[in-house]
Amino acid sequence: MKFVVLTIFPELMDAFWANGIMRRAIQSGAIDTTAINIRDYAEGRHRVTDDRPYGGGCGMVMKPEPLAAATKAARQMAPRAPTLLLSPQGQRFDQRLAGQLAQLPGMILVCGRYEGVDERFTEQFVDMEISIGDFVMTGGEVGAMAVMDAVTRLIPGVLGNEDSAEQDSFGDDRLDTAHYTRPPAFEGDEVPEVLLSGHHDRIARWRCADALLRTFARRPDLLRKGRLSDEEMALLSAWHREIESIIREQIGRGPDPPSGGG
Ligand code: SAM
Repeated sequence: MKFVVLTIFPELMDAFWANGIMRRAIQSGAIDTTAINIRDYAEGRHRVTDDRPYGGGCGMVMKPEPLAAATKAARQMAPRAPTLLLSPQGQRFDQRLAGQLAQLPGMILVCGRYEGVDERFTEQFVDMEISIGDFVMTGGEVGAMAVMDAVTRLIPGVLGNEDSAEQDSFGDDRLDTAHYTRPPAFEGDEVPEVLLSGHHDRIARWRCADALLRTFARRPDLLRKGRLSDEEMALLSAWHREIESIIREQIGRGPDPPSGGG
């Protein structure tokens, strides 16, 4: 997987690529990374990459010529890679899109700054705009890192067995289960007993229930998307019966007595 990042701050990528799983993926040859300084493709003594917006208004706009020249150079390095522009107006990045991008031979990630990029560059050179969420950052670099990070860990062989992506949140339209490590008691809070039992079937059932409960409580929308397993259906039905019986009991108690005083 070839990543080419177009940015006016290429040094922002240095620490990101020099540490952790990204570094390991580069060393193993699973990914190959290049940052292109858009400024190197700007004309003139000052190598200006931005200019005032036509029609007036505040802020600056990234000029199309340096972006186009830098993209052409990137395409020499990664001929079959699509050009993706980081933009708050793009398609929302999620685990599914990360999975699709992980199938590609590479990608060219264009990082905007200021008010964004000249629209003609987008129209002529960009295959897809990607947003990492409904908020506005000062530049696309953090977004490009988010995309590269999420995509890289899905490339086969990048994660060791010990940190496999299979159980991660969103893998199966579920959130991940809770995790614990030593010590068994922390500030009076104990690790769930079942996780210390060494009983693999019970642990698997507990994790399935915990992931389902978390997903139901935090992201019920995910449960509507995918298919529930028989085990999950049984769990949900049992909770449903339990919740109904609690409600029936509460209704049976009648209304609260009027509070005194006042
Ligand atoms: N004026 C633009 C708008 O409102 O749509 C925002 C420009 S933003 C200040 C500058 C650059 O940061 C963008 O060109 C884009 O590359 C990047 N950026 C900001 N927020 C982003 C987001 N949520 N997702 C991806 N990129 C983002």
